[in-house]
Amino acid sequence: MENIACNLCGARNEQFLFYGYDIDYHTGEEQFRLVRCVSCGLVYINPRPEEKEMKNYYPDSYRPHHTKHTKESLFYYQEPLHPERRVLDVGCGSGELLESIAEREKNTALYGVDIDERAVAASRASGFPVIHGTLFDAHYPDSYFDEIHMIHMLEHVQDPKAVLREAARILKPAGVLKIEVPNFHNISRIIFGNKWKRLDMPRHLYHFTSRTLTVMLQRAGFSRSTVTGIASPKYFLQSFAFWWQGKKQSYPRFVWYFFTPPARLAALLGISSTMRAVVRK
Ligand SMILES: [Zn+2]
Repeated sequence: MENIACNLCGARNEQFLFYGYDIDYHTGEEQFRLVRCVSCGLVYINPRPEEKEMKNYYPDSYRPHHTKHTKESLFYYQEPLHPERRVLDVGCGSGELLESIAEREKNTALYGVDIDERAVAASRASGFPVIHGTLFDAHYPDSYFDEIHMIHMLEHVQDPKAVLREAARILKPAGVLKIEVPNFHNISRIIFGNKWKRLDMPRHLYHFTSRTLTVMLQRAGFSRSTVTGIASPKYFLQSFAFWWQGKKQSYPRFVWYFFTPPARLAALLGISSTMRAVVRK
């Protein structure tokens, strides 16, 4: 375990929030300490497992390494894309997002990076040039990509600010960065506390709010960002199941329909479990 300073502002002035543990994959009985930086508001695990220890918390069954990117993510990226451009998916998993772009855009050159060996093998089998390692291991040239995607990866990395700076370096001046992360300022976390499904301890080392994400993006070299909530009752219902029964549960369809309008309202109010940012330099 290592004790860290705030990744956003460098302060070592933190407020204890609560303890959490791995309710999802049961990788151990350890309790992890979640804190909030008093200076800037960033939420993170401290102390946290060292980088070399993190693989212990990603079991073979870890879903995003097999099936990834939720339907709402795929829907989100179905917008017109310009031909003859380069797109990078950081944390590409088995390559689903790359495949969905490839289906629509025959001339787009698609690249991926992932730290998981099996995910890299799967995405390479689909024909994509995927680098096994971190974004820093890839050593892409300056101003290389038109678009970079970071879908539920930023909360997993040891140094998110450095990752964003690297993204700013390899993105073209007119390029766009698309991010999706859990939103710590959300109704399910407020109600269910450490049973909030997106806490995902200790894999989620950081938790952002719209404000802390925006400030980190600015400090990494991005001046324009639009953050919006994603409307889905999924994490509210999953958190309720963990809170009530301590395990996953499937719900009948009418329950989903019933909770969809409040989920839309939560997204509008900025208190949904997930948020996305469209970012430019
Ligand atoms: Zn801070």
